[in-house]
Amino acid sequence: MSPRTWLLGFVHALLLAVHGPSSSLASPPRPPNVVLIFCDDLGYGDLGCYGSKTLKTPHLDRLAKQGVRFTDFYAAQAVCSASRAALLTGCYPNRVGISGALDHRARHGLHPDEDTIADRLKSRGYATGMVGKWHLGHLPRFLPTRQGFDEWFGLPYSNDMWPFHPEAKPGTYPPLPLFDGERLVDEDVRPEDQQTLTTRYTERAVEFIARHREQPFFLYVAHSMPHVPLYVLPRHQGRSKAGLYGDVLAEIDDSVGRIVAALDRHRLTDSTLVIFASDNGPWLSYGEHAGSSGPLREGKGTAWEGGVRVPFIARWPGRIPAGQTCREPAMTIDVLPTVCEFTSTPAPPSPIDGLSLAPLLTGTPGAQSPHVALWFYYNQNELQALRSGPWKLILPHTYRTLGNQALAKGGLPARYQQAQAGLELYRLDADPGETTDLASSHPQVLQQLLALAEQARGDLGDALTKRAPSGAREPGREPPSATP
Ligand code: MG
Repeated sequence: MSPRTWLLGFVHALLLAVHGPSSSLASPPRPPNVVLIFCDDLGYGDLGCYGSKTLKTPHLDRLAKQGVRFTDFYAAQAVCSASRAALLTGCYPNRVGISGALDHRARHGLHPDEDTIADRLKSRGYATGMVGKWHLGHLPRFLPTRQGFDEWFGLPYSNDMWPFHPEAKPGTYPPLPLFDGERLVDEDVRPEDQQTLTTRYTERAVEFIARHREQPFFLYVAHSMPHVPLYVLPRHQGRSKAGLYGDVLAEIDDSVGRIVAALDRHRLTDSTLVIFASDNGPWLSYGEHAGSSGPLREGKGTAWEGGVRVPFIARWPGRIPAGQTCREPAMTIDVLPTVCEFTSTPAPPSPIDGLSLAPLLTGTPGAQSPHVALWFYYNQNELQALRSGPWKLILPHTYRTLGNQALAKGGLPARYQQAQAGLELYRLDADPGETTDLASSHPQVLQQLLALAEQARGDLGDALTKRAPSGAREPGREPPSATP
């Protein structure tokens, strides 16, 4: 034994004698808490830190200043259920058999055997809680409590799948239920109940943090807002001077502030990774009741940038350097593997598509997007676009657009028209608005991206070219006769 080894052994024995084996010297460090805040239909251009001049989001702007803000971050599909499937499983939604937006008639949901972030962290000893909109199957065996969450308070699907929605024809929707765990606590959510949703979600989130401050926890806050129909507390109406949408967003921003304050109060700021994102771009047909995609083209329900590119902010003082802006492309499928890496949690046993963003988040010099390409599927497995480096390939498909219609007012939507996209190529670093098609001037890039599209089709299929998937898994299905 060298004198140095002997000395280290002696010092270690001395420390153990002084502090005992249960001290922090002997036990592994506590893994970080994870708070994941996900908004519904919030646009790329809706936050102050993403360039909004009309909407005020001081708490989110501060969060971005204290951590990292991504400029080129994507939801996996520009629609609610599919987007949430990707966020929680680390998979493209079509890999796990979820597309579109599931309503009260859906007999399927995310397969209970799929591993969610909550499943992963629960296996690591975390307390796991969710507040807000689920939207991955409303039948009992598909609820959050069957997907790794110890507790859940919220709506099973969107707040517009509701008899009171101005657009709903009478008899279309049953009463909207509100759950606390698997217990129905309000079988008929009324307009006055929707006014308090954001506040109640926030209060439950703050209370969850207080209750679990002594152990690692995962908290998923999936706001029902700013999805239409918009509601805020009556006393907050008019506060933003930016219309009802501005009031709703101000309340969400307040909610972020209250959650961050709760972390501060319990001295958990340095041991908590906070992530904020949106499930898809703004629902533009709702006009003044919709958000903004800023400089981007189109919105929700399309594979154009305004549909899929969303704000993404991550803060973890001490691990994520403050004040960063990351311009590398990344997607919600990357959240699960990133959380697994930061918490030393094994990846799910089934193959996933996401890759860890830890090097980008922690500011590793020269870190790049872990993806060669990101796929944009929509409409029951149509491969409509892909992104590789600065390039975006648009594949021929039909999409919805408002054209030059006047802005819809009063919470009622304008009618979309159908338009046809061709084989188009855009360079997003110079042209984020997808205005100048470079397909004919860059034939080599076009061929490279078409070859990448073939890779996606061989694995996940493509309804546009009639290719069946080879690597997709089934959702969970309930027979038609089972309990509603
Ligand atoms: Mg949505």
